[in-house]
Amino acid sequence: VSRFEGIAMAPPDPILGVSEAFRADTNEKKLNLGVGAYRTEELQPYVLKVVKKAENLMLERGENKEYLPIEGLAAFNKATAELLLGADNPVMKEGRIATVQGLSGTGSLRLASALIERYFPGAKVLISSPTWGNHKNIFNDARVPWSEYRYYDPKTVGLDFEGMVADVKAAPEGSFILLHGCAHNPTGIDPTPEQWEKIADVIQEKNHIPFFDVAYQGFASGSLDQDAASVRLFAARGMEILVAQSYSKNLGLYAERIGAINVVCSSADAAARVKSQLKRLARPMYSNPPVHGARIVANVVGDPALFGEWKAEMELMAGRIKNVRQKLYDSLMAKDKSGKDWSFILKQIGMFSFTGLNKAQSENMTNKWHVYMTKDGRISLAGLSLAKCEYLADAIIDSYH
Ligand code: PMP
Repeated sequence: VSRFEGIAMAPPDPILGVSEAFRADTNEKKLNLGVGAYRTEELQPYVLKVVKKAENLMLERGENKEYLPIEGLAAFNKATAELLLGADNPVMKEGRIATVQGLSGTGSLRLASALIERYFPGAKVLISSPTWGNHKNIFNDARVPWSEYRYYDPKTVGLDFEGMVADVKAAPEGSFILLHGCAHNPTGIDPTPEQWEKIADVIQEKNHIPFFDVAYQGFASGSLDQDAASVRLFAARGMEILVAQSYSKNLGLYAERIGAINVVCSSADAAARVKSQLKRLARPMYSNPPVHGARIVANVVGDPALFGEWKAEMELMAGRIKNVRQKLYDSLMAKDKSGKDWSFILKQIGMFSFTGLNKAQSENMTNKWHVYMTKDGRISLAGLSLAKCEYLADAIIDSYH
């Protein structure tokens, strides 16, 4: 008898489990809109040209495979903080930021959670309702208590701004407020610049600490600066901020696991101490991070020609998603005779669309139409082609009514 008899089967992951089910489906009409990964119009995975160029450069230089320091590649850490805040941001000049390379967005969030657990015992993290499914897992595993603030309003398929502000206000003083820097996952609904200002007001009033998850910089609007505007607005107020970054989407480096955790502090001295503790937390978890993705980012951002090419490719990816979003909306409006207003789809931003389909309707999408998606009604437009929009519109209308 096995010593592991007491271990029960774990349920499949609500997002990655969708890909497993998709692979098992033999129907030729099947469509995977579950995981957020960019596909070409032919629905094939895409490696950015600028990534291949950077990799060729790295190969020519014959880079070695020595360990990185615990905090990661220095050139990457500098590049990633500058990309986030802007190179001429006072925070950079004053050395008030602790940047540590992480295992992509997830690993960076996890490291930040470990910091919270160790140095802010009992402090709560407030997450949006709904949010990316893995946030809860991350805080649970780090033993950081969390609760939700209102975010999505099903009546308007828009932002419940009043509810959000009220809940942030009601949270115990000094809570961490998790915010999606841009392209909120799963809803695709972001606060307006005016709303961001009000959110910052309340957070400052209550002495909370903003904790940004930036997984889509440049990928939402096509502009790196525009997508970082929320974080920069908080930084400009002189606030202390946590920011997790990911290069999975904007550079298509999903499997390279490259990202960073940044802690903006009120002094260079505090930043140095925070950085030393982040390293101390990382060392027994994974010792030091992988080098390949870090070198790609450093090379792309550090070379003006490659940097320019990256921006062009990002615009291309963001543009393709916007085209698909428009075509899906047009198809829904043309086909749906019920008079339902689908314009909320056009108001959403980023790789996802929140359709408003409930669990049973989402299941109908999969079981009858072979459209794979998460049960919360989220579809990844990055996995959709113009050619498949009409089919998807048929499936959505059938599932809705
Ligand atoms: N945060 C959000 C909101 C995300 O959507 C994602 C990717 N799905 C991540 C973090 C992290 O992804 P990764 O670990 O691949 O960087």
